[in-house]
Order: sequence, then structure tokens, then C-alpha cells
Amino acid sequence: MGHGTLDHVTAQVLVVGSANADLIVAADRRPGGGETVLGGDTRTLPGGKGANTAVAAARLGADVALLGAVGDDANGRLLLGSLRDAGVRTEFVRVVERPTGVAYITVTPDGENSILVSPGANHAVAPDVVDGALEGARVLATSLETPLPTVEAAVSAASAAGVLTMLNLSPVASVGESTLAALDVLLVNEHEAGWLLGESREKESALLDLGPRAAVVTRGARGALVVTADGVTEVSSPKVTPVDTTGAGDAFAGALACELAGGVDLVASVRTAVRFAAVSVTRAGAQPSYPALSELE
Ligand code: ATP
Repeated sequence: MGHGTLDHVTAQVLVVGSANADLIVAADRRPGGGETVLGGDTRTLPGGKGANTAVAAARLGADVALLGAVGDDANGRLLLGSLRDAGVRTEFVRVVERPTGVAYITVTPDGENSILVSPGANHAVAPDVVDGALEGARVLATSLETPLPTVEAAVSAASAAGVLTMLNLSPVASVGESTLAALDVLLVNEHEAGWLLGESREKESALLDLGPRAAVVTRGARGALVVTADGVTEVSSPKVTPVDTTGAGDAFAGALACELAGGVDLVASVRTAVRFAAVSVTRAGAQPSYPALSELE
């Protein structure tokens, strides 16, 4: 199961995605319109789907770069620091004249999170910056907290260059038919899969009718499904006691990208991603919860 992981030191993953500071505050309840509620102290943690995915891939030993943008502010420095500490290359992270993206996260005692994202600098990532960054990449991993035209340009350029393309359709949004058709791997959680498949709740195999070569559906504690032209393979998760599932989807995406860049086949890659994400939910936070390769054995 995923024993190829040790060979991955030369893997090349380009993540085109967001970097956000997660500002987390616990409160007894979330405020309604026109209301003020006092909460606990604010915790500021590095996050954003792109940064989380890149850090996860780096923890597994991938040679990974993030393409994105942060502001010239304390949150931007926090994010650049955490990326560099994890060994993620940051030469394609631009520092722009907009505030670093922020996710305002309210956590209530029922364990429910409400999240308001201010994309800020992430919206400054223009389509034209992708081309030069693809050189040497084996896998492009992207998601939808970066402007859609940039994501679509990245997928199109990567596909044309023979780079394996993977899109995490999160947060869920419509993407163009030609983008879906240029995907090697469409990565969705169950909610996103349901949204794509529509009311009829067709079988997951119908995800391939949208155009990708393969689809991976994450299913929380139940693991994941791998959908290819050969059929649907169920990959179950090890049983764990979840502490904090924040960033589990990004952990999965990063691990999957790392494995695929190392030449591991899709089902074996998903087995490793499931194990990696399962460890991540047993620890607090997103990036700080991601295990190193040595902890996965
Ligand atoms: P999130 O929004 O929390 O980042 P998600 O909704 O995108 O996650 P999920 O399907 O909930 O995606 O989780 C992604 C992966 O994380 C799952 O496929 C699984 O491998 C792992 N995972 C999530 N929750 C659990 C859990 N309770 N126990 C074990 N593994 C889990």
C-alpha cells in the first residue's frame, strides 16, 4: 500500500491556489444580522486550499511549488514562513498590493464552522502568470479559491504540456466544459459530487460524462471512491477518532498530487491519500495536522 512513497524526492508538483490566514474564534453562538456576540481569543493559522495542499504534498516528500499571491502584511509573512518551513518553493508566490486573503472562521460548541472568506491578494493571480511555472512539473493541482479564468488557463496550459491535471472542485462552482474535459483527475467531496450529478443522484460513474479521465470522491470517515473507465473502486479509511477535520480535503489533495507525481497509479495514490488525511483529522488545525512521511508508516 503506497510503498512507492520513498521514491518521491524528485516529484514535481505545481499547486495553483490560494493562501489565506485562518482567523479562528470560538463563540457560544454565531451572531445574527445586526447583533454583536463576544467570543474567545482569535487564533491565526496559515491556511487556504492552495497553501494547505502544497504543504501536505511537501510533508510527503514532494518537490512542490505554490503559485499564488499574498499581501505585504503580517498574514502574508505568516503564510510565506509556513510554506518555506514545510519546504514548499515560493518563487511563484507574488507579494501584491492587496491584503492577504483571510478566512474568518467562527466555531460554535456544536462543532459547526461558519466561514467568511475575503480573497484579497488571491484575486490578483492572473491567468498569464501560469505558463513559466509549469516547466518541469509532472502534476498540476488546483482548486477554486483562485479566480476561475486563472484556474482554467492553468488546466489548459498543463494539459497541453502533458502535465497531469487535477482539480479539486472546492468551493463548488461551475467550470467550463473544456476545462473538465482537460482534467486527468476531478477531485470532489460527496457534497460537490451531488451538486455535479444533480437531483437525479446518478451513480458516481456519471462524473466521467462531464469529461475528466477519472474522478475521486472523498467520503469523510468512509474514505474515497475512485471512478475510472474500468469502474468504481472503493478505498476505505482506517478508523480514527477525529479531533479536527479542518483541511482534511486539502490534505487528501496534496497527498494525492504527491503520489501521482511519483508515478504511483491512481488507486494506490488514493490509498495513501486516505491514510494521510485520516492522520490529519486526529490532530488540530489544517497544516499543523499533516503528518510527515515517516509518521505514515
Ligand atoms: P474538509 O472540508 O473537512 O477539508 P472535505 O469535505 O473536502 O473535507 P471529506 O470527504 O470530508 O472532504 O474528507 C477528505 C478525506 O479526509 C476523506 O476522504 C478521508 O480520507 C479523510 N477524512 C475526513 N474525515 C475523516 C474521519 N472522520 N475519519 C477518517 N478520515 C477522515
